[in-house]
Amino acid sequence: MAAGAVILVVYGILILLMITSYIRVLWHAIFDPGFVGQQPGRKSGSEGTWQRPGPWQTPRMVRPSPPLESFYDQDFFVCDAQGKPIWCSECQIWKPDRARHSKEFGRCIRRFDHYCPWVGGIVAERNFKFFIQFCTYAALFSLVSLLVVAYFLSREVEYRWERTVHLSVTAGLAVFFMLLAGGTALSGWLLAAMNLTTLDNIHQKTNVWQVAVSTEMAKRSEGCAFPTVTAPKDCKRVFAILQSPAGCNPFDAGLMENLRQVLGRHWWHWLLPLRNSPLCYSDTGNSDKPHPSFACIEEIKEAAGLGSMAPQTRSACDRLRRRQRRFPQLLAGAGAPLKTVKVRSAGG
Ligand SMILES: [Zn+2]
Repeated sequence: MAAGAVILVVYGILILLMITSYIRVLWHAIFDPGFVGQQPGRKSGSEGTWQRPGPWQTPRMVRPSPPLESFYDQDFFVCDAQGKPIWCSECQIWKPDRARHSKEFGRCIRRFDHYCPWVGGIVAERNFKFFIQFCTYAALFSLVSLLVVAYFLSREVEYRWERTVHLSVTAGLAVFFMLLAGGTALSGWLLAAMNLTTLDNIHQKTNVWQVAVSTEMAKRSEGCAFPTVTAPKDCKRVFAILQSPAGCNPFDAGLMENLRQVLGRHWWHWLLPLRNSPLCYSDTGNSDKPHPSFACIEEIKEAAGLGSMAPQTRSACDRLRRRQRRFPQLLAGAGAPLKTVKVRSAGG
């Protein structure tokens, strides 16, 4: 009797968490997966087929896009050959790091992760956390269901064909959904732990990022081998235009910080599908604002002759590299795509 009550409570909690996280994934997938604001009064170059104007727009959707100067207030940003942020010719805006243009919405979307056929929409900055939570709770729900069914099957003293068939079908469905949701959840957790998106991960091993890194020493940059760019507003800020070594992820801030950026700063944020990712709250509009001591950035700076790494940073960097080499196999095991695939929903 007591065991039955416990099972019912566990079921209830899991169903509640699963439904809440699913609604949040779906809500953001439909209305705002993480739109980059558009310039006021400026019409988008393309009208996406899913674009929903007027009453559906949340305040975030009408927030203006980051102005050019804001990129140069940071210590680092992804840039083009001239040292400018990436320009979206469709939206006519400067794209925050890792934002991609979605043809369906006709808008740029922050931290674009992937198009999910199960959700029927885009998983990006605003719903990636809830996507991980939904898959995790769905896998746990399937596991509990499987255990309960297995218990009843083992206790079937008097054989009844119909009952056994029902229980076996339920067990089969539980196994199927456990593997599907569990694999997706595992790949989501690994991507969050690595601070990668599904799209970044496809080319991770060969990916070379062109980045503008603040030199903080205008005089030293004169006569250097690398090209530089000066901030449009504050002429004292000089940025070196550098390339990351292949396979180096400049957004990797270390395991726990990566997970905190996606899931939240407190343990209850990790468990409850209530609060958005800390990624969604940023002053500059650049969601992937990195910490300047990122190991990869230090590595890039050192390679360009802009200072040497502290022994502590170097060991952190070696640790990151080892992890970056190990994770692709785990991701492949969890079902995340690792080979080049044609991504039609996101351009540039
Ligand atoms: Zn765009």
